[in-house]
Amino acid sequence: MNSEDLSGFLKALRFAANKHRNQRRKDKRNTPYINHPIEVCYVLTESGSVFDPAILTAAILHDTLEDTRSAPEEIRELFGSPVLDLVKEVTDDKHLPRFVRKRLQVENASTISDAAKQIKLADKISNIRDILENPPWSWNTRRKLDYINWAEQVAGGLRGVNKKLEDKFDELVRISREKLDKGNRR
Ligand code: ZN
Repeated sequence: MNSEDLSGFLKALRFAANKHRNQRRKDKRNTPYINHPIEVCYVLTESGSVFDPAILTAAILHDTLEDTRSAPEEIRELFGSPVLDLVKEVTDDKHLPRFVRKRLQVENASTISDAAKQIKLADKISNIRDILENPPWSWNTRRKLDYINWAEQVAGGLRGVNKKLEDKFDELVRISREKLDKGNRR
């Protein structure tokens, strides 16, 4: 990343932190929401060796359209159309019922761009890691396993782009199942 890319990324981090400032993750620790997009960026660089500034900028912004009052125009103006297009590719249509959105993620995974596929996979890795280490307070084991099964279906459509990320995902799913199955049997 050159200095221009870095300042663009920090501008996006600042924007996302501001938009998510009153939101918390639904875990026991009441984690600030912004920790999640930061984690997604960290997974991309650390596990996926992804250093493309547009991908990392879109990753830090990936939940702003879906979960905050951000207008697409704001993102276009500040970060440009390629970043906006990427964010849109990983944004669910909140007007649709939850089960439809979940089905569409599975159906559409293979049709999105390679850049968006990597963001989506890193997002799933981050969410599963949270389920393992710092889960939503109201989720029982069944719900956790359901999420992992669904994420695996989505990930099926995201393969063939970044082997390192895919291996990380598979490893995490394996560990999670082991852990959760044990908990289930107890
Ligand atoms: Zn996310």
